[in-house]
Amino acid sequence: MSEKRTCRRCKVDKPVNQFEKDKRSKGGSTNRCLKCKQASNNKAYKAFYRMRELAPKYPIPIETTKEEVAQLFDVFDNRCGYCNVEESEETGTFNLEHIRPLSRGKARHHVSNLFISCKSCNSRKGDKPVLTFYREHGKLEYDYMPFLVKYIARFSKRSIKDVEAELVDEERDYHESRDKAAV
Ligand SMILES: [Zn+2]
Ligand SMILES: [Zn+2]
Repeated sequence: MSEKRTCRRCKVDKPVNQFEKDKRSKGGSTNRCLKCKQASNNKAYKAFYRMRELAPKYPIPIETTKEEVAQLFDVFDNRCGYCNVEESEETGTFNLEHIRPLSRGKARHHVSNLFISCKSCNSRKGDKPVLTFYREHGKLEYDYMPFLVKYIARFSKRSIKDVEAELVDEERDYHESRDKAAV
């Protein structure tokens, strides 16, 4: 009898050879089945191509690959990075969202600036700094902020402190320029 395990995504028991190989994990394979991995990769690639289609709007180079985006989809496990909702018919297809919006400059098409977002969060955030968005939706006090900061730090290879300071600066600059415009 061949050894079986349960896929953490589809919850189906499958033979071990239907799981992706992973040298880092104990049993030599991960707990996500190949079929789920493929589905996740396909979603990621599609999101990457949609982002690339819109890219010419801003003269900013694309510094990410579809393989990196597939890695992002792994990290998020099919959930919106901002509100943690799972993708479903109700939420619609998730897209890549720029944490620092391209419309405000100093933003990059880079994994460290990309989040997977549901439609609702995407439109509510708009061009706001992520700190302002979290503040308005009562998300600062939960786990959302530490997750976001750790995420950016990991993919931009910077310290948590640097990332936190940058997000605070972003919010301050945003409100200063709006105040100026209002005068
Ligand atoms: Zn599965
Ligand atoms: Zn969301």
